[in-house]
Amino acid sequence: MKLLDRITACLLKVRASRRRPAKTTDPMPLPAAIEDRGMTIHAGWLIDGSGAAARRNVRLEVRDGVIQSLEEGSVPASGVHASRPKPGFDLGGCTVIAGLIDSHAHLTMTGDADEGLRRRLREAPFEVVRRMIQENLREHLRHGVVAVRDGGGCRGNALRFANSHALREQPVRVLAAGRAWHRSGRYGRLIGRPPAGGLSLAEAIRRDGEPANHIKIVNSGLNSLTEYGGRTSPQFDLEEMSAAVQAAAARGLPVMVHANGEAPVRIAVLSGCRSIEHGFFMGRDNLARLADGEVTWVPTAVTMQAYAAHYRQAGKNPDVARRTLDHQLEQLALARRLGVKVALGTDSGSPGVRHGAAVIEELSLLVQAGFTIEEAVRCASRNGAELIGAAFGVLAKGSPATFIAVNGEPSMLPKELEHIRWVFIDGEKQLVAG
Ligand SMILES: [Zn+2]
Repeated sequence: MKLLDRITACLLKVRASRRRPAKTTDPMPLPAAIEDRGMTIHAGWLIDGSGAAARRNVRLEVRDGVIQSLEEGSVPASGVHASRPKPGFDLGGCTVIAGLIDSHAHLTMTGDADEGLRRRLREAPFEVVRRMIQENLREHLRHGVVAVRDGGGCRGNALRFANSHALREQPVRVLAAGRAWHRSGRYGRLIGRPPAGGLSLAEAIRRDGEPANHIKIVNSGLNSLTEYGGRTSPQFDLEEMSAAVQAAAARGLPVMVHANGEAPVRIAVLSGCRSIEHGFFMGRDNLARLADGEVTWVPTAVTMQAYAAHYRQAGKNPDVARRTLDHQLEQLALARRLGVKVALGTDSGSPGVRHGAAVIEELSLLVQAGFTIEEAVRCASRNGAELIGAAFGVLAKGSPATFIAVNGEPSMLPKELEHIRWVFIDGEKQLVAG
């Protein structure tokens, strides 16, 4: 069998194993799109993405894909507003939530832990990778994710996808870094490249012509899975990192920095980067710096949960991963108290971290760390939208009608997000479970 066929067969197997039995009941039919003349939606509960407490019985007027008004305390006389001049539908038994964003994913990778499959995918032709990215984006959409911020891949294929027609053939927005930057000989080969031929990091970024949405720099090693709290030294010093951030800014691009441990995170924050990715064991001082400098933190706690599960299954000792997860949740609790802006990211595509499904797991971990469900949703909606410069992320007058709906009240969250009923993007229906 040819390489392409073998990989495709593997992908189909992975996809089949993920399928869930289809639901058979659909409480009421929805129109294919919210019509231009407008539509009234009655939401039993509304989580608007701002972090504010869920509101009860909210009526949304939508026209041209934009929310024209929100009115609290409205109760429809009966199901569909048949007597109203505008079409409408009743989501009185549902919670309507601002669309979610995964602020750290690797679309060119599968969440499967099989190292053989992962290696073959890294080497696969773009056509195979394109199909996998599309499958990964379908999984994101199915879990209420309307935008994905990609953290890099060794061949830059997520960026190639983001700049191709394939992006427009599906509704999820993709922002990609292409290949990340790392120091020669240090961690990062699987997601990027070092500056070529003795160039400084800043010069390499300046000369790079890839039409990226952001720059990704790796400034530490991977978080250790064998030594609790094990540290790695920074890959770049403050001078190099600051020059790199300025070179990116000259291209109009923000910088996301992979950094674990005190020194790598400190250098990244002081350099003026846009976000810290992972940030395991960054410590209290760095959390305070994040809060002061309005640098966003993308904690990807679910990776440690996935590693712990994977190690347990493989008969290896999961203790370091489990304790690292606990420590990250403590850092999150402190971040919440200090007012750090946290954006939800999963590192999906890492071993055991599934595209889409991991967003719900990360939301659960935020709640476990002490965030209210509304605050956890804000990490995935408003804070993620700010990171990617999107207009959606909050449901308010004048905002895009980009939302998801699940059955039941907010106390059913985040679990009920596994059974999303509807996804609307700019007022257009993308998904209805049924
Ligand atoms: Zn990553």
